[in-house]
Amino acid sequence: MNQKTRILIIDDSQVMLFALNDILGPFYDVHCFEDVGEAFKRIDSIKPSLILIDVIMPKISGFEVLIKLKATPGVSDIPVIMMTNQDDKSDNEELSFKLGAADFIPKPFKPPVVVARVRSHVSLYEYHKELESTVITDALTGIYNRRGFDEFLEREWKRGTRDNSPLSLLMIDIDHFKLYNDNYGHQAGDNALQLVGQALKFSLHRMSDVPARYGGEEFGVILPDVGRSGAAVVAKRLIDTIQALGIKHEFSPVAKTITVSIGGATAPPIGSTEALIKYADTMLYKAKADGRNRFCQ
Ligand code: GH3
Ligand code: MG
Ligand code: MG
Repeated sequence: MNQKTRILIIDDSQVMLFALNDILGPFYDVHCFEDVGEAFKRIDSIKPSLILIDVIMPKISGFEVLIKLKATPGVSDIPVIMMTNQDDKSDNEELSFKLGAADFIPKPFKPPVVVARVRSHVSLYEYHKELESTVITDALTGIYNRRGFDEFLEREWKRGTRDNSPLSLLMIDIDHFKLYNDNYGHQAGDNALQLVGQALKFSLHRMSDVPARYGGEEFGVILPDVGRSGAAVVAKRLIDTIQALGIKHEFSPVAKTITVSIGGATAPPIGSTEALIKYADTMLYKAKADGRNRFCQ
């Protein structure tokens, strides 16, 4: 937690950049740019929690920069504060808000005002970021929780429909996990869940393949752009990976280690996310009934 919050400043005046660096440098890791193009090139690696932009610059207007930032994925939610000129009677301040700025600071600025405004927007942004990640992440396994699963499935469903590409879903349930908990204890059960969650994560090869903890000892894996045969390949790999973890389960009638059963569904032909989940669930029950440690689709 020693790393300072990063802020990015774009201003054509070097004097102004020095001044802002003096004011904010003691509290933040300040990245100054006179050149807008350079700032855009570096923004992804800097990952600032706030951007300050001078409205009046010779080559490009600060508003144009603001519009570009708001149209850039991954950057658009970073708060932007515009530095406006107080004696300029145009509606700079109103326009700043209309274009998506979080705030403005009139020039010439008072250092305590700059610090206060920057601080309030940075903390708000960081709060939202944290909330976002804890809201959709499962605390035990570190992968998506049910809500993250639902949101990702919705998003990928829409994209798949638009691009006319398939989408597969795997529902995964640990076999005889009640017996595991009853015999080894809840803490050991939690550890096993953690291992299974991580194993799922690391045995999915594509960035777009997303594992989630659906609830209890049940996991879901969303496979965008994967059809029926691809889903079977992934499911078999997951079954092998979990068994290869070798988590001892002497009380399982299926194997000597923890195993999983998997149900799969693919769209098309399935026509909705609800039907996809329902079908994968039905196939999961079938895999259980057929003897567990297997995949049905
Ligand atoms: P099956 O092979 O049919 O899936 O049998 P099962 O025993 O796994 O299924 P059942 O649904 O009867 O039991 C699920 C068990 O999972 C109940 C509970 O002991 C355990 N479980 C669910 N959530 C958690 C959790 O968060 N932590 C731990 N440690 N155990 C959990
Ligand atoms: Mg189970
Ligand atoms: Mg279950």
